[in-house]
Amino acid sequence: MNYRSTRGAGPVGLDEALLRGLAPDGGLFVPAALPRFDETAFAGLDNIVDIGVRFLTPFAAGSRLEPALDAICRDAFSFPIPLRDLPPTQAQLGVLELFHGPTAAFKDVGARFLAACMQRLDRDRDDPRPLTILVATSGDTGGAVAAAFHGRPGFRVVVLYPDGQVSPRQAHQLGCWGGNVLTLAVDGPFDACQQLVKQAFAHARISQEHRLCSANSINIGRLLPQAVYYAAASLWHLRRHARPASFIIPTGNLGNALACVLARECGLPIAEIVLATNANRTIVDYLGSGEYAARPSVQTLASAMDVGDPSNMERLRHLFPAFATLSDKVSGFSVTDEEIREQIRLDATRRGETWCPHTATAARVHDRLPAAQAAQPWVLVATAHPAKFHEIVEPLVGGPVPVPPALAELLERPAKAERIPADLDALAAQLAAH
Ligand SMILES: *Cc1c(COP(=O)(O)O)cnc(C)c1O
Repeated sequence: MNYRSTRGAGPVGLDEALLRGLAPDGGLFVPAALPRFDETAFAGLDNIVDIGVRFLTPFAAGSRLEPALDAICRDAFSFPIPLRDLPPTQAQLGVLELFHGPTAAFKDVGARFLAACMQRLDRDRDDPRPLTILVATSGDTGGAVAAAFHGRPGFRVVVLYPDGQVSPRQAHQLGCWGGNVLTLAVDGPFDACQQLVKQAFAHARISQEHRLCSANSINIGRLLPQAVYYAAASLWHLRRHARPASFIIPTGNLGNALACVLARECGLPIAEIVLATNANRTIVDYLGSGEYAARPSVQTLASAMDVGDPSNMERLRHLFPAFATLSDKVSGFSVTDEEIREQIRLDATRRGETWCPHTATAARVHDRLPAAQAAQPWVLVATAHPAKFHEIVEPLVGGPVPVPPALAELLERPAKAERIPADLDALAAQLAAH
């Protein structure tokens, strides 16, 4: 399989697309053609590893990763991803729980898959120096990337986060690794962290000396494994309920939802795809008007979705160049902070379910569907465990949210970060000293 840039460059193979992250013309890599699976393609396959290998085989054709795909999927899908049916009401409703990984959010899936791929791609090289994965984070991504590369030989991870601007549990998840993970608390906002990372990549000597490499969320190696859980969930649903599932997906940069679109375009049994955003309305307004207007992000309770210019929009528009087609393929609704609060309260009493603020946007959108649409079978996509956002959720549900074992284990470890000013010399000194 070849990959092309959304802006025209390419084609390149999967290996190069993975290692580059961003295409040389600044675009995002997309598959040059999509495989089409018919109904029998997954016959007899039930667990996510087997479904993943079958789904990803055409995407890895011709890559050095193709023979290792089975091992890579075993490595990446190493925690449960259950599709749980809620007790039946008038209509079928399920929850796809993507938060059972080491950092309790769906980004673990993509980060682990990318790490498993990069480890195998780098093995053939002669250079004995480790690759340095350099990542700026506003909270969630950095932890998932650190967890995914922690302890992998041939890699080190350097995470930059804005000092004092992430939640205490997030700071802990960033700083608790040790070993091959270096955590830097930068004196400045998230934008300054991102700026520092860009400067380091652009600096030829720093970039080469430390073999800098990106594990950015726009990497095609994070998108493909996300399509796997939609493939698996759609098959499980069809087998259980004899009807295709529709998905409601909490959306920020559109990476998670785009993976669902990709799975459906490959022939998987998925009916509707609905995007749930917070008060950042860029996508919803675009779907309403056909005019795309990026805007500054606003802060909300569902902070991992505070995005004003979603990066994967470029992939969605590339996939469906005609707006009429695009707006037929997905719909979107925006949810306010007040509605997020209300929904968390409501579903704790009504359903006995505790949502994280992101998942609550999807639950809210489901409640708002017109009756005829709500009568179809739906799946809410749960992107994070509520314990990750306990300071928001606990007052609303009126009690403690039990911490899942993987997260509890991280929170018990000591955490540590080096404080640095927001300048390139300070970052370079840290890179050289560790
Ligand atoms: C990143 C994230 C999202 C948004 O996912 P996108 O792929 O950026 O749309 C939603 N919920 C949680 C918990 C996240 O960490």
